[in-house]
Amino acid sequence: MQMIRTKIVATMGPAVGNVEMLYGLFQAGVDVCRLNFSHGKLDDHLLMLRQIREAAARWDQPIAILGDLGGPKIRLGKVADEKGTGGMPINVGDELFIQREQTLGANRRVSTTLSHFVDDVNVGDRVLIEDGMLRFVCTAKTFSELRCTCTVGGVLKSSKGINLPNTVVNVPSITDRDWECVDWAIENDLDYLALSFVRKAEDLQLLRQHLINKASDIHLIAKIEKPEALKQIDAIIDACDGLMVARGDLGVEMDLAQVPIIQKDLVSRCQTAGKPAIVATQMLQSMIEQASPTRAEVSDVANAIFDGADAVMLSGETSVGKFPLGVVHTMAHVAEITEEYICSHTPKEPPLKLKTMSLSSALAKGVWQMTQDLKVTLVVIWSQNGATARIFSKMRFPVPVLALSSDHRALRRMALHYGVLPLEMAPPRGMADLVELVDRALREKDYASVGNRVLIVAGSSLGTPGTMNGVVIHTVGETWKEATESAAAAGPDGLQLS
Ligand code: ATP
Ligand code: MG
Ligand code: MG
Repeated sequence: MQMIRTKIVATMGPAVGNVEMLYGLFQAGVDVCRLNFSHGKLDDHLLMLRQIREAAARWDQPIAILGDLGGPKIRLGKVADEKGTGGMPINVGDELFIQREQTLGANRRVSTTLSHFVDDVNVGDRVLIEDGMLRFVCTAKTFSELRCTCTVGGVLKSSKGINLPNTVVNVPSITDRDWECVDWAIENDLDYLALSFVRKAEDLQLLRQHLINKASDIHLIAKIEKPEALKQIDAIIDACDGLMVARGDLGVEMDLAQVPIIQKDLVSRCQTAGKPAIVATQMLQSMIEQASPTRAEVSDVANAIFDGADAVMLSGETSVGKFPLGVVHTMAHVAEITEEYICSHTPKEPPLKLKTMSLSSALAKGVWQMTQDLKVTLVVIWSQNGATARIFSKMRFPVPVLALSSDHRALRRMALHYGVLPLEMAPPRGMADLVELVDRALREKDYASVGNRVLIVAGSSLGTPGTMNGVVIHTVGETWKEATESAAAAGPDGLQLS
């Protein structure tokens, strides 16, 4: 069975804004669609959301939708397109005026989304734009504007992010605009919400409480991109449902050379915590403009998978890039080749890194060992709310893990977990019934063929989380009755293993 274990998150935008294209992205390997609330209006996102759902309804795998809250990120205002450059070209040594009053950026003059920007930035402070691609230093200031000099040039474009590494800015962790987006996400039944610039666990707890109050079970992803967050990373991991290594802002807020080390550390902490990790930003950046990636980019995608990432993310590559389909194909291909290598070098012992042993992790460990001893094709688990699927995913099984549930939300959330193949099934009456239904589904979906051995992990009260307590060794095509009879005929030593 051909399956890519690494999950692909694709940022939505004008380049992929139609149902056909979205369906093509799913076929190419996209599992999670990211709506970045920092760009576009909620009405635009609603249109996109409807298109995603239409395409997903035609596709036979669950697709998760992740809403990305901008958090306290300062952005440029709108900038006019000068001579078809897509924005305002600016060279080293040029002067740029950043004014208090909102304006359409033109003639070396722009404004930002932060009303007190001109008050907060001081002469000598650095102003970095678009993840530090363009750089400026503030040289003078009046009540109404800042004068800045360009130290690294480029094209200034609408709504690009601004980082102020030397400036203390007073902004709440979750802005009014974020709250508006959170309520929109609840109303529209999104699966994940990512919070940008998380600084402390309380930022997430605040958001979690709001979700609880509104009876929403949207899962929270903490975007790690501030040095403050690294200081209390364990508390943050406890408070979230997953992490995003947001390398764009991280690479500006910290010494860029630290980013690969931070990535490894964060991904490995997620492995011990049993939570998913997404590696994001510039993974195949050159493919925004070019049809093929650089060597370094391909290496970066592969290394993120080696580090243990559940998912790799595409940003501008899909939202505004010239080759949205090509870039997903490229990413999926790199993942496929990397996983082939990983699977052919499976360790002898279960790679258990989980910090706390639970019923699920103990089962996962035992079942992992059984996949080695019994040469099984597939592991099937019943995971009603997705928690067991999440734990099994972290064990990086050498075979795919088919995770069953009757809960659509849980199935969609599983789209983010490495190596997990979600499948909808109505709760069976008991183990014998489950085995029969699984057997039929495996053959129908071509996930396994007659004679293949599979492990089915479930419990007596299917549908009740935390009640998994049994493992059935099943040969595809054999009925429950045949299995019992052949086991009895085999005598006290049991079946011969092949
Ligand atoms: P973040 O810090 O959250 O990653 P970003 O500005 O880097 O924010 P990305 O989501 O990484 O944004 O996307 C890269 C670029 O794609 C953006 O800078 C923007 O130009 C464009 N983009 C993303 N989403 C949209 C959208 N919905 N509409 C138009 N352009 C978009
Ligand atoms: Mg980005
Ligand atoms: Mg960011």
